Amino acid sequence: MMDLLIPDKLHDESRQGEALLLEPISDKNNGRKLYIESYGCAMNFSDSEIVASILLEKGFETTSDYTVADVIFINTCSIRENAETRVRNRLKEFTIAKVKNPGLVVGVLGCMAERLKSKFLEEEKLVDVVVGPDAYRDLPNLIEQVDSGQRAVNVLLSREETYADISPVRLNSNGINAFVSIMRGCDNMCSFCVVPFTRGRERSRDPQSIVKECTDLFNQGYKEVTLLGQNVDSYKWRKPHPALSKGEGSKKSEVEVLSFGEDLGEANEPVVNFANLLEMVAQVSPELRVRFSTSHPKDITDEVLYTIKKHDNICNYIHLPIQSGNSRVLELMNRTYDRDWYIDRIDAIRRIIPGCAISTDVITGFCSETEDEHKDTLSMMDYVHYDFAYMFMYSERPGTLAAKRYADDIPDAVKRQRLKEIVAKQQEHSFLRLQAQVGTTQKVLIEGFSKKSNNDYCGRSDQNAMVVFPVGENYKPGQYVNVFIERSTTATLIGRVV
Ligand code: SAM
Ligand code: SF4
Repeated sequence: MMDLLIPDKLHDESRQGEALLLEPISDKNNGRKLYIESYGCAMNFSDSEIVASILLEKGFETTSDYTVADVIFINTCSIRENAETRVRNRLKEFTIAKVKNPGLVVGVLGCMAERLKSKFLEEEKLVDVVVGPDAYRDLPNLIEQVDSGQRAVNVLLSREETYADISPVRLNSNGINAFVSIMRGCDNMCSFCVVPFTRGRERSRDPQSIVKECTDLFNQGYKEVTLLGQNVDSYKWRKPHPALSKGEGSKKSEVEVLSFGEDLGEANEPVVNFANLLEMVAQVSPELRVRFSTSHPKDITDEVLYTIKKHDNICNYIHLPIQSGNSRVLELMNRTYDRDWYIDRIDAIRRIIPGCAISTDVITGFCSETEDEHKDTLSMMDYVHYDFAYMFMYSERPGTLAAKRYADDIPDAVKRQRLKEIVAKQQEHSFLRLQAQVGTTQKVLIEGFSKKSNNDYCGRSDQNAMVVFPVGENYKPGQYVNVFIERSTTATLIGRVV
């Protein structure tokens, strides 16, 4: 896998395998220590916060040292083969800890657990418990089961679970940016993708609980939320069935929700769609920046674009994965849009939100992709001039439509060569996009010291570019400053506060 520039931290290479640490709840402490590390996308890191929240309530405390832990959890990713290999290798490193402490519970959570189910227990003797992404509420019971000498599995997928009522503890947080999960699962069946199998059917979370979480975050001092979903544009929350909304509390929330969506039409149409939700979150405070990911080209509407345009605090940045620039390949991928449709959406973004940054995902060497079809992806990149991109070689995943229907027939060397060409083009475009901002003034939310020096702060512009500038007495992390951009490197803007 090769990722270029990870400005929005959706898949942050530097966070892979990161362990979570939080304050214990003193009156509940059961004396047991939990070590939990996470792999994959932001959704997994966000899920680990939910897991930690559930176990904290049961009296666990966290540790960043697995050698002193009573429970080790590894929250896994299945998206490409190398993500799974990484987890298998990591598990081997826990063997000595288990020999030293036979009572140690080792659990595998997340997508790989869901994909392999009880097979995991057969393949990895070290593992005691396997838990899928919709079964985290069952973790305390499953740990008890292991304590009583059994191995445990819960990989049931749910059509309802959104963990809406669990307020995730924020871990390893800078206290400024937070991820907020707005939906789970995915109903698209992109032929290359394992997500619908590991995360189940798409379901949206109650908008009131999302707005409450964002409001709580803002009140705690957070200045930026990123709304997360596999396809945020298909977010929809329907008015609860009257039989479900008899209680006082639900009546109130229904009225508030309706004020945003009552004109949407027929009774069975969505009451709150993604544009409405964005607006609700934007109204928490003009001081709270709102980002979101991932948008899907087939579903992103002009209504969403106009909502972004309307609110200064909704960032002008859209992650719109193309995957391939060729219509035949897109059809094989079952992406349900073609090249022209995608271009139409790009044109709409450029027309409605001029200057909006756009990033993408690209897969090279998908089944039967020809050289000319690969060139179509390059020409699409030339058309859009993406600000950033995540670029991958196709990795066949067992059980997916592509694995069943098509031969993975592009040799690795060809996939790699195509990836190299795509990465080179993206580097060119990223640099051009940054260069175009030299001489402008950008509003930056300060996140902390820059990676290289404590004499500099770093933060992101509205368009998600990383900006570095000298530390000053009059501003600190969590504040917005206007930075005049003096120059750029290939990945960063450099300037001074004005
Ligand atoms: N839901 C998002 C969407 O539709 O764009 C993407 C979710 S997926 C976690 C992130 C990215 O991983 C995809 O956009 C795709 O580029 C890449 N990906 C997924 N399956 C892959 C595979 N089998 N091989 C290579 N890359 C893959
Ligand atoms: Fe996977 Fe497609 Fe769903 Fe994205 S939209 S998670 S690529 S199936």
